[in-house]
Amino acid sequence: MSKGIRRSKHYQIYVIAERCKECGFCIEFCPQHVLCKSTETNSKGYHIVCMDNSNKCSGCNICSMICPDFAISVVSIEEEVEKEAEVVRVK
Ligand code: SF4
Ligand code: SF4
Repeated sequence: MSKGIRRSKHYQIYVIAERCKECGFCIEFCPQHVLCKSTETNSKGYHIVCMDNSNKCSGCNICSMICPDFAISVVSIEEEVEKEAEVVRVK
């Protein structure tokens, strides 16, 4: 095994804090269970939705589609990461 550069894709959500009303639809319907209520509140006193650090978001966009207040958008982030990679010898 040797080190190699691989491309890795993961996703992040952006929440427009003032639009979130803590209804919890996005949390309930996220198939990866990566969303939760943060301790942070907006000016109306609602806890703003956030994503955990598990890196399990699949980018399915369900949260964004289901939010009645159009508060969430999902963005993909591509990065180069150094990972152990198998070296295949070609004869
Ligand atoms: S569905 Fe929208 S309004 Fe409801 S908790 Fe999620 S982000 Fe907030
Ligand atoms: S994009 Fe899909 S997996 Fe990611 S947080 Fe939204 S609902 Fe969950």
